[in-house]
Amino acid sequence: MTTSVVIAGGGPNGLLLACELALAGVHPVVLERLPERAAQPKANGLVGRVVQALDYRGLYERFSGSSAPPVPAPRFQFGALPLELSSVDSNALYTLPIPQRRMEELLEQRAHELGVQIWRGHELTTVSQDGARVSIGVTGPRGRYELAAEFLVGADGGHSVVRKLCGIEFPGITDHGFIARSGQVSIHPPVAVPGTGELEVAGVGRLRPATFTRTGNGMFTYGMFQPGRYRVAVYEWAPSPLEDSTSMPLDELRDAVRRVIGGDVPMSEPAGGEPAALRRSTGINSRQADRYRQGRVFLLGDAAHVHSGVGGPGLNLGMQDALNLGWKLAAEVNGWAPEGLLDTYHGERHPVGQRVIMHTRAQMALLSAGANITALRELFGELLRDTNNVRHVADLMAGADIRYDTRTSELPHPMAGRWMPDLVLPAGNETARVAELLHPAVPILLDLAGRADLAGTAKGWMDRIKVITAPTADRPADAVLIRPDGYVAWAANPETPRAAAGLQHTLQSWFGAPAQAHIPTEG
Ligand SMILES: Cc1cc2nc3c(=O)[nH]c(=O)nc-3n(C[C@H](O)[C@H](O)[C@H](O)COP(=O)(O)OP(=O)(O)OC[C@H]3O[C@@H](n4cnc5c(N)ncnc54)[C@H](O)[C@@H]3O)c2cc1C
Repeated sequence: MTTSVVIAGGGPNGLLLACELALAGVHPVVLERLPERAAQPKANGLVGRVVQALDYRGLYERFSGSSAPPVPAPRFQFGALPLELSSVDSNALYTLPIPQRRMEELLEQRAHELGVQIWRGHELTTVSQDGARVSIGVTGPRGRYELAAEFLVGADGGHSVVRKLCGIEFPGITDHGFIARSGQVSIHPPVAVPGTGELEVAGVGRLRPATFTRTGNGMFTYGMFQPGRYRVAVYEWAPSPLEDSTSMPLDELRDAVRRVIGGDVPMSEPAGGEPAALRRSTGINSRQADRYRQGRVFLLGDAAHVHSGVGGPGLNLGMQDALNLGWKLAAEVNGWAPEGLLDTYHGERHPVGQRVIMHTRAQMALLSAGANITALRELFGELLRDTNNVRHVADLMAGADIRYDTRTSELPHPMAGRWMPDLVLPAGNETARVAELLHPAVPILLDLAGRADLAGTAKGWMDRIKVITAPTADRPADAVLIRPDGYVAWAANPETPRAAAGLQHTLQSWFGAPAQAHIPTEG
């Protein structure tokens, strides 16, 4: 069988990519080796720009159950130090609590609505490629078979078989400085203080959820993500060697908590028959694929990068990889991608992955043991009393400090390469917010000043982009060209020299040659 795109891995990132491709008219096959979704709990929510990105794709309401647009978090933490965000302008640190299993269910449902084929119980086992196609060996419920595809995407997690089979290096470090244990458990009154989410631990005092208790022996944190169900995590410094485990006894978690905080937290198996998801891990990997693309094969999500989970950055990074790759790969399959477009995936997303590895390692350093670290925390805490520093850290965690290359030699408009703000459009337009314009994942030329010269320039690309004219006096630019992933490709002010020519150049460099020739006229 031959198909345009095969995605190996039906986790959240592979499924989101499948939806993106299908929106652009490319129907991939998703191979997922598990016959059924894994019961083991993973993420508890999303943190960062991705929450807005889902809103821009019309998925936020499904994920949150709310029809109102997302609002940024009033506070968060960096390395267990408080980040007070309420006074930060344009705070991009959005949070959305949702269990990963539910996220995957919703994305799978969306993928089915869009006509994606998801083959469960099918495991990719071999990969080879030449200049024209990728050959993929698969072991499915009825045995082994071969698939041929124009492109293969490895969204097959941190142990990615695709990455290994393609010989893509995964350099980085494994930090063995502590042992982490976690689980999802029931904690009952009087230790669980009714109605507050707090724990009252004899000999220790009152502990608050979503905060870190750092002691001479390690660190303890917990949160309640469903009524009566607590996620407990405890880290011990300088452990003696032990194997990783996903079947650790509950007593082991209880004992580790006692050693670290110096008091007893009675825990039992969670109510409702859900698994306690007890896990021991003895090393934290911070690793990144040295190439996100090798010929016709791409890597995405955990297959491309792994790091500590502190601050919950994994899906903010991986899902935005999917949004970045989706429209570019679809453009290639649909035959209009300009030269070099597919290479911008690595060019844009690899540096973002590097920054996540940097800030998660910095946070792990702040969480480590010792008097020097205590001093460092004190200093860092002082720096975080300055709103500018809080904004810097919040943007870093949100992935909002990204400015993509604008592929032009001209001095770009300040909006170009950055996230498109969710402007409210003037009354009388079919849609009320920029976010809604992007639901179909089609590039938009948003003309906010009635610039006929610019709308005219876009005529040759009308098979690929949509022009929306919504004149308003309150505008950040005369016109903005928005990519399907929500980033601004180009923008112009009234004083921008040769705006129409600049727009034409940008349209060509992101969206290929025009379907019909057009000579720009200057407005
Ligand atoms: C305990 C825990 C808590 C976490 N908490 C958070 C959090 O709160 N917020 C956050 O953003 N992130 C969190 N993360 C990280 C997040 O879970 C990952 O970043 C996310 O799962 C990555 O998604 P993915 O689709 O790239 O890979 P995965 O979720 O690993 O999915 C890969 C899929 O590929 C399949 N597969 C593997 N090999 C093959 C093959 N050869 N053929 C076919 N299919 C294959 C697997 O079965 C799997 O379904 C947490 C992780 C853990 C472990």
